[in-house]
Amino acid sequence: MLTRLWIDGKSSSALSGRTFDVLNPADGRVLAKVAEGGAADIDAAVDAAVKAAKGPWGRMSARERGKILLKIAGLIRENLDSLALLECRNAGKPLGDAREEMGLAADTFEYYGGAANKHFGETIPVAGAGLDYTVREPVGVCGLIVPWNFPLVIAAWKLGPALACGNTVVLKPAPETPLTALALAELAAEAGLPEGVLNVVPGPGPGCGSSLVAHPLVRKISFTGSTATGTGIMKAAAVGIKRVSLELGGKSPNIVFDDVDLNLCVEKSVWSVFYNAGQDCCARSRMLVHRRIHDKFVEHLVARTKKLIVGHPEKKGTQIGPVISARQHDKIMGYIASGKTEGAKLLCGGVRPKGVPPGGHYLTPAIFSGTDGDMKIVQEEIFGPVAAVIPFKDENEAIRLANDSIYGLSASLWTRDVGRVLRVTRALQSGVISVNSSSSVHLEAPFGGYKGSGLGRELGLKALDLYSEVKNVFIANV
Ligand code: NDP
Repeated sequence: MLTRLWIDGKSSSALSGRTFDVLNPADGRVLAKVAEGGAADIDAAVDAAVKAAKGPWGRMSARERGKILLKIAGLIRENLDSLALLECRNAGKPLGDAREEMGLAADTFEYYGGAANKHFGETIPVAGAGLDYTVREPVGVCGLIVPWNFPLVIAAWKLGPALACGNTVVLKPAPETPLTALALAELAAEAGLPEGVLNVVPGPGPGCGSSLVAHPLVRKISFTGSTATGTGIMKAAAVGIKRVSLELGGKSPNIVFDDVDLNLCVEKSVWSVFYNAGQDCCARSRMLVHRRIHDKFVEHLVARTKKLIVGHPEKKGTQIGPVISARQHDKIMGYIASGKTEGAKLLCGGVRPKGVPPGGHYLTPAIFSGTDGDMKIVQEEIFGPVAAVIPFKDENEAIRLANDSIYGLSASLWTRDVGRVLRVTRALQSGVISVNSSSSVHLEAPFGGYKGSGLGRELGLKALDLYSEVKNVFIANV
């Protein structure tokens, strides 16, 4: 297991010599001692990235870059078992989910490997006599900052397009989950990625992340995490007019009309909020339900939720693991307490399941009813397994409630009425909408939010625009 920084194609200790503890959320024990990157290590990583852009990587054709990404995808698949176990132990994910995520990371590198030589400029019929055309160029050194909820997947979402476009990068994984990012750096070197193109610097606290954002030679920051941190990053990146893309928080609605297949809808709705223990920016944590079917929906939802198996992520049959940390656990329990204090009715969950290891951060999925729109549990991102059910009387009220949020990342809409689908999807202030489905993410389609949920779109071919500059050239016919 690689536990040291990865800079300029090799692993090294932090310049300070310090390490920090990375814990297993399943039992709270130390999983690894990882080199603690700080400002000086970020400087070294950015220097390596600047140098790499002037080396073979900068001269490589898009096709060759694409081939390296395809090799990375192949190596992730070859090492899928060990990577999945590492992610499972580091992020507390059920092993089966971790395996799926490693497959998705490989798919992402494959997609952008294929896309590398299919992203190009255009010729433009301008009025002047001559030829006008655009070229796509790399932005430069990109600082990629990823969170702990989907560590390798989100790293791949950023690395795939950044490398396909010919940039060099410094990746800062979340301090809770740096291990698969470090493992990936080694695999990328094995795949032939030149030294210094991908540097990985983990490190907790402001020294590492904010130094990366402030570094004058970093030309772009791509960040996934909380809206509060994203706001600070956008402000800091204004110095030097760095390019910024942000995937931030969510409080996504799951809108259920009274003409649905209730069994299918409940089954999907349960996973749409409780998958990954609710630590998902797309979690459909606001269940808006037509009042005609509200009671029945709630009854089915609670019954299905009580059957979910919460337990040790490596144990066969576990469907929901622990949350990432004691801090996150306390934050979620604080929201559950606030829901009760504000007068909502806790229908199930919010307790420690039996038989789990004492040091792990487990809780059963919680459902509230009797909420109103101003409650904290309805307005704020909880990032844990907590859902609030809210009745509505008609389409207009459903739209008003759905849009009553500072966020606008994902939404689900459940109905068989095509006219209603057209009206509601048009009215929703949301970057990603799924109809009769709970999935928000499709590798080939753009993903990102309206309002406080972010800036720019990841995934699909649109993501390549975020990692390239457009240069316009006019050649006069003289
Ligand atoms: P943050 O958004 O604060 O952190 C996410 C990443 O950003 C980490 O790698 C973190 O590393 C880094 N970071 C934090 N501050 C800075 C900074 N000033 N400059 C550069 N990088 C920085 O989330 P937390 O992990 O603290 O979680 C808190 C809450 O955020 C959660 O409860 C949840 O609500 C939300 N969240 C949302 C996510 C999403 O996908 N939308 C993902 C994760 C969290 P470091 O801590 O080392 O600085």
